[in-house]
Amino acid sequence: MAVDILGKEFPLWLGQAADIQEEDGRLRVTAGDQSVLVERVLAAMGRRPNVDGLGLETLGVDLDERGLPVFDPHSMQVGDLPVFIAGDVTGERAILHEAGAEGRIAGFNAVQAKPVAFKRQTPLAINFCDPNIAVVGSAWNELDPERIAIGEVKLGPLGRALIMGKNKGMIRVYADKEDGRLLGASLIAPKGENLAHLLAWSIQRGLTVFDLLRMPFYHPSIEEGLQAALYDLRGKIARQPEGPVELERR
Ligand SMILES: Cc1cc2nc3c(=O)[nH]c(=O)nc-3n(C[C@H](O)[C@H](O)[C@H](O)COP(=O)(O)OP(=O)(O)OC[C@H]3O[C@@H](n4cnc5c(N)ncnc54)[C@H](O)[C@@H]3O)c2cc1C
Repeated sequence: MAVDILGKEFPLWLGQAADIQEEDGRLRVTAGDQSVLVERVLAAMGRRPNVDGLGLETLGVDLDERGLPVFDPHSMQVGDLPVFIAGDVTGERAILHEAGAEGRIAGFNAVQAKPVAFKRQTPLAINFCDPNIAVVGSAWNELDPERIAIGEVKLGPLGRALIMGKNKGMIRVYADKEDGRLLGASLIAPKGENLAHLLAWSIQRGLTVFDLLRMPFYHPSIEEGLQAALYDLRGKIARQPEGPVELERR
């Protein structure tokens, strides 16, 4: 799979360790049985909270190897102290809307007699390369393979993607294999950022694959790719609704 970053095509290897060696003034990148010769490598290695010098060691709570204290992600409270943590500095969900949500929780709780535990939003992470890459809800490797069903579609033949000349990518949707409740999704898709939002909102509302298949899907749209992944998924669910899956009794 290749992605387009600022008009240039880059090979994409997700979650695979790559070996990089110099070769004739260029760089040979090898991951598994794939290998490519490139001029430059963009390595996204993550970021580290800057907590040195904050004096966290004086709080009297255990710090992990990054120097970060244990905190409750639902109240943002550090241990049982009147101390609250929020944003990228937690070293966890380092994205803007999560930092904002954590700030709200921490700010609210900082002025309460007893901290309140809040539900966290469905995880949503989007990479704005072309096609977009997104992970929603639980990632595949966080789920129990015995308890999930996977719906999958490749976007090569999708009508709208063909019209746009962007018919590359794949959508994978994960659900509880007993009742079809949506748990997560991973996708590489044109307009993937929009699909990812639809999926995150659906997961957060506790919807099932059947609930989604009862929604309207316009033709020709990229959402039809999601519809195809959902059709692939629905046949793998144990508890099936009566009658046509798209219809809901009045
Ligand atoms: C290149 C890049 C691209 C990004 N793209 C996206 C994106 O597309 N979507 C998305 O959702 N998120 C994105 N993010 C992440 C997003 O910017 C952060 O999640 C968000 O800014 C976190 O807010 P924050 O208030 O926790 O931390 P910050 O915005 O980092 O603010 C922390 C502040 O604390 C200051 N500070 C640090 N150490 C100390 C100290 N010891 N004492 C006093 N002050 C200190 C810093 O100078 C800074 O002003 C991106 C981040 C980067 C770096």
